[in-house]
Amino acid sequence: MKYVSNLVCINCGKRYHPEPERYLCPDCGDRGLLEVEYNYKKIKKDWSKEALEEDRNYNIWRYLPLLPVESDTPRPPLRVGWTPLYQNEKLAAELGLKNIYLKDDGLNPTGSLKDRASALAVVKAREARASTVACSSTGNAASSLAGNIASMGGRMKAVIFVPERAPAGKVTQLLIYGARVVSVRGSYEEAYYLSDTAIKRWGWYNRNAAINPYLVEGKKTVALELAEQFNWQMPDWLTFSVGDGCTIAGAWKGLHDLKEIGFIDRIPRLLGVQAEGCAPITRSFKTGEPLKVTTEDTLADSIAVGNPRNYRKAINGIRYSGGEMVNVSDDEILEMMRLLGRTTGIFGEPAGVAGLAGVRKMVNRGLIKRNDRVVAVITGNGLKDIKNAQRAAGKILEVKPDIEELNRLFLEEGVLNEEEKI
Ligand SMILES: *Cc1c(COP(=O)(O)O)cnc(C)c1O
Ligand SMILES: [Zn+2]
Repeated sequence: MKYVSNLVCINCGKRYHPEPERYLCPDCGDRGLLEVEYNYKKIKKDWSKEALEEDRNYNIWRYLPLLPVESDTPRPPLRVGWTPLYQNEKLAAELGLKNIYLKDDGLNPTGSLKDRASALAVVKAREARASTVACSSTGNAASSLAGNIASMGGRMKAVIFVPERAPAGKVTQLLIYGARVVSVRGSYEEAYYLSDTAIKRWGWYNRNAAINPYLVEGKKTVALELAEQFNWQMPDWLTFSVGDGCTIAGAWKGLHDLKEIGFIDRIPRLLGVQAEGCAPITRSFKTGEPLKVTTEDTLADSIAVGNPRNYRKAINGIRYSGGEMVNVSDDEILEMMRLLGRTTGIFGEPAGVAGLAGVRKMVNRGLIKRNDRVVAVITGNGLKDIKNAQRAAGKILEVKPDIEELNRLFLEEGVLNEEEKI
């Protein structure tokens, strides 16, 4: 790792050698989240926007100087990253904005932004000489790990701990990728602690995002890409939905790195969006009080995290950027799934569109101005969660196999107008 200098504790500032299995600061325990430090001077000397422009590798590894991996460690062959950025006038008009940009991270290989972190986890596991990687998750962290491990061609194994209530659809994706899935009779907390104990007992690699400092570095590639796709002219606002807080913290880290090496001169304001039924980070952000664990009452399961472990990095990042936080209701999320789908052709899962629902709210409150350039990252694909999508979807038309009947129905439903009718 030519450009990584240290891991630094965000609580006490102590520095550590960047070993692949260094997760937390031993002096600070759970508060001692570590951050990867780079030698920006050296990167600046060796790397340029022009060099990047010539690189035909359109995936996260094009940003290698800013990633904490050895250049020769085998990587999962799945194409992670370089997801498309769209501008959409129709949606912008619906939101009361001049410009809205959407980055569709649901187009990653396993259908969510989490692939960016899991690809890093697989590489770090190889560097730690671990062939088994474990995590506890009901959702995208697990499926992305399982998929990226599977792509290594049988050389590695994924062990996933899920709580009993895990949705069948998401568990199916894990099993199809060949992961070992352990259903823990108990809560998410209990599943988490069992995975932690098993990881220590058997020396597996730990892909629990909140405590593994390398995973945030994978997630930051979404911001690196955005900057490059915007030709380094950064927009005014960048929004993400927030669960554990690693994604938005990663985005902040990526923007900070780019500013330090002189690729961008301005960092957009970050808008973090939580679900009304589970918003411990928004509460702590607004009140300045320590985090209070909450219930998890939202259909946006990927951001239903009552006890987030990475909220300090998230809150710091949003603050430094001059950003904001806001909550949205489940109804607002469902409405946004419909609006996004029919104006853009992008199908997002509930957590995938929550950020955009937050944008709408902030425009209505006047905090985001009509002329601001706003980017929303759609973090997960809607096909992952058909049950909730059905609640957002309209109804289908039923008809006997008869053209006259169809004609009548179309008129009734406004599908045809008077001139078009037979
Ligand atoms: C994990 C996830 C998020 C939130 O990321 P955190 O790091 O937990 O804040 C948002 N959307 C989707 C689809 C996710 O899977
Ligand atoms: Zn510390």
